[in-house]
Amino acid sequence: MEEIILKARNLKFSYEGNSHMALNDFSLDIPRGAKVAFLGSNGSGKSTFFLCCNGIHRPGSGMLYYNGKPMDYSRKGLLDLRKKVGIVFQDPDNQLFSASVYQEISFGILNLGVSKEAAKEAVERIMEEMDIASYREKPTHALSGGQKKLVSIADVLVMEPEIVIMDEPSSSLDPKHVRLVNQAVENMSAKGITVMMATHDVDYAFAWADEVVVIHEGRVLRQGPPQEIFADPALLHTANLTRPAVMEMYDILCRKGILNPDAPMPKKLEELLSRLTVL
Ligand code: ADP
Ligand code: MG
Repeated sequence: MEEIILKARNLKFSYEGNSHMALNDFSLDIPRGAKVAFLGSNGSGKSTFFLCCNGIHRPGSGMLYYNGKPMDYSRKGLLDLRKKVGIVFQDPDNQLFSASVYQEISFGILNLGVSKEAAKEAVERIMEEMDIASYREKPTHALSGGQKKLVSIADVLVMEPEIVIMDEPSSSLDPKHVRLVNQAVENMSAKGITVMMATHDVDYAFAWADEVVVIHEGRVLRQGPPQEIFADPALLHTANLTRPAVMEMYDILCRKGILNPDAPMPKKLEELLSRLTVL
């Protein structure tokens, strides 16, 4: 049976001075090592849930379990949790504190009390891996949006987390940096890291995710494999989601008798097109 790394049960959360519930009976299970896409309109509660996952927000009621244990909100508990659950914020300016890139990435790991030498080795390794070593001396505020995003990912990865949460990582990035971020995400999964990502890109979610979590008005409407989630028109309508382009085209081509519906549905448009060219 798959192991659940993070479990949420009936979380309720509202922001101070706001009677509106940002999370309202929010429950889900995250399998260890999975690629999990979070879909839902703006304001549905994705970011609020993410901030609960590493203890920045504490739910008013309900319970979060990490590796089967109720979340520990003591000082030490939170420190341990934040090593294991890293968040890449949607806006890097909320994460980076404008030291040099090198200082920025070493800050968190030095705070864990590791030796200077060990920290240096870890920071060098991650800068190499992310291909950001060439701007190591630059202050983070002088970087482009795409470079800031890569540094904020390195910031999290240097801690060797078990879960990486990415809040709309590709919003406002150019195509080159979208590719670099997607590559970094693939590398995380290859290392066995659990990745939770909020995105509005249904085509990407369909191709990438093992599991899709659909959030609506502070609740999990449904969690399941992308093929199931995107096959439910009523669910998509409620959550204001569109079907992935590859699904639409596959259906049309099957209806017209151009593709054989017994063959499995491809995950990406490129795969669908390559099937057409061999016809
Ligand atoms: P999403 O990430 O899905 O767009 P959020 O978690 O940011 O959704 O927002 C959920 C709800 O909480 C929304 O109604 C939003 O207006 C509210 N909210 C989010 N952040 C704050 C905040 N800092 N103060 C007050 N209300 C907030
Ligand atoms: Mg958000």
